[in-house]
Amino acid sequence: MVDSQKAEKGKSKGLLQRLNDGDIFLAAEGYLFQFIQRGYIKSGSMVPEVVIEHPHLVQNMHEEFVHAGSDVVLAFTYYGHRQKLNVTGHEDEVEKYNRNSLRIARKVADATGTLMAGDLSNTTIFEPNNAEAIEKVKAMFKEQVIWAREEGADYIVAETIPTYEECALALEAVKEYGQGLPAVVTLGPTSKSTTLEGMPFGEACRKLEEKGAAVVGLNCSLGPRMMVPFIKEIRQACKGPIAALPVGYTTTRQFPTFQTFKDKTTGKYCFPNDLAQFQCSLNEIEYFAQSCKDIGVQYVGLCCGNNAEFFRHLVETLGKSAPALRYKTDMSNHFLFGNLPMSSYNEMHRKAFLNVDV
Ligand SMILES: [Zn+2]
Repeated sequence: MVDSQKAEKGKSKGLLQRLNDGDIFLAAEGYLFQFIQRGYIKSGSMVPEVVIEHPHLVQNMHEEFVHAGSDVVLAFTYYGHRQKLNVTGHEDEVEKYNRNSLRIARKVADATGTLMAGDLSNTTIFEPNNAEAIEKVKAMFKEQVIWAREEGADYIVAETIPTYEECALALEAVKEYGQGLPAVVTLGPTSKSTTLEGMPFGEACRKLEEKGAAVVGLNCSLGPRMMVPFIKEIRQACKGPIAALPVGYTTTRQFPTFQTFKDKTTGKYCFPNDLAQFQCSLNEIEYFAQSCKDIGVQYVGLCCGNNAEFFRHLVETLGKSAPALRYKTDMSNHFLFGNLPMSSYNEMHRKAFLNVDV
């Protein structure tokens, strides 16, 4: 599946150089939900067992996302940290989980000429003013940064972290142990429209930028349309490259984050297993892509709910290339919708399937 053009491009330029050159950098995420839906990760604990038990499937998904246009292979270490593995009784395997994930990602990145990124996520234990929790968080970030660096990550992502302070700890770990690797730090927005401690997103991102993050922005929770106004706020507050990676679900004022969705009939929460009814349309993906262009977002992607079709559409709307665009939709040869000469067979089927007079 190696695409020679992509391989050439990837090898010649790192993340910072591409951003400095004004490129739009594409980042496909959403591995956790893809594998939950496919029955390889348990909802609830949400630990990425699949990197140990079915590594070839993780490799396949990395390849699929690169095929759809991702410029990066994000190692699937999301929630593969010490705290999460402690909850499931696998804390002694935390290094194995991380190194496995990183090696799979490095292999695909090398084969496709893309970049490989290590991944830090919200620790689920951070509390401000809790010295013991803060020390645990620091240790968790430290070990994951060191493993990512040792396994050859090109940069480190710290993502879906709802507080500025925990983001700052992740950034400090990358600066201290990453030996110069760039950090992409994204806040995970809650339904409060600010960070968990009540700081406006723009201010939090500016502070992270000033502390040395290469890219800052938002990731997860909000759907494409709901994320756009906050991204505008961040663009005005920050000088450098910014990131936007919404979920692939249509969140609204009533349901601002995908965790808040409730089923229309039962009134029950839909997160995380009954989200298909809220899936985005391709039109919303287009709106998001166009907004990113207009606002000047350089690090563009999709998070939970992402799939290869959404991502390819994002890439196409942004005017970027992807091997999968070879197969982009062309309905002109379709027997019902296309421009083929109208036969009695076509007429009969158009009448029957499309309910139209021919
Ligand atoms: Zn997500």
